[in-house]
Amino acid sequence: TPWRATVLTLFPEMFPGPLGISLAGRALASGLWSLEARDIRASATDKHRSVDDTPAGGGPGMVLRADVLAAAIDAVDAAAERPRLMMSPRGRPLTQARVAELAAGPGPLIVCGRFEGIDQRVIDGRQLEEVSIGDYVLSGGEIAAMTLIDACVRLLPGVMGKLESGSDESFSDGLLEYPQYTRPQVFEGRPIPDVLLSGDHAKVAAWRLAESEALTEKRRPDLWAARPKAPESGRKRKS
Ligand code: SAM
Repeated sequence: TPWRATVLTLFPEMFPGPLGISLAGRALASGLWSLEARDIRASATDKHRSVDDTPAGGGPGMVLRADVLAAAIDAVDAAAERPRLMMSPRGRPLTQARVAELAAGPGPLIVCGRFEGIDQRVIDGRQLEEVSIGDYVLSGGEIAAMTLIDACVRLLPGVMGKLESGSDESFSDGLLEYPQYTRPQVFEGRPIPDVLLSGDHAKVAAWRLAESEALTEKRRPDLWAARPKAPESGRKRKS
């Protein structure tokens, strides 16, 4: 069975949204993956179909109810066997390594929070893995879920062609990607670096590695420090 994403949301009409377009959208249309957006409200039990309530202990806003959300999770096919994620600014920051793991599995169930978030007891009771897409706060988990799904889908077999291969890009080797150029050969007085037009593949590879290393060291000292030691590198490491 192809990889599938099941999203639990109060706004199922937001999906597929941008995931229905371009690379992910073509792959969705051709059955390389599937997407199911389920309405959390369908699991509400009272006559007002309420999904949230005021926070225990007081404070602003509303919290998604544990009972409603747990029922929504339990109604998902094979929920117990799949990764169960909750998009959350408190979560562990998403990495390309985690994306690759998720892409290699059956496909996750993803809970999208709204308002002040969700009742802690459903996070604990259903063992939800909280995942953040960065240190800023969105108004809901849907765009974060789309981000995660998009990153996974492009790694699925058959989705990226040879022309858009992911083997060389940022994070694939612990480095940021080297600068890219295409025609025209001179743009506003700036030429494409000579080495890229030399036809010497070894020289091009060495230049790209050196550029990647310099950029990573400058912009992302955290990645640079954590980088696995490579046997051959484009330039000398400082430490
Ligand atoms: N009160 C929460 C807090 O301070 O941690 C923020 C809730 S936020 C307004 C509503 C929902 O948006 C969250 O439950 C989560 O699902 C989603 N969200 C917001 N920022 C996010 C981020 N950086 N990464 C992933 N999901 C996020």
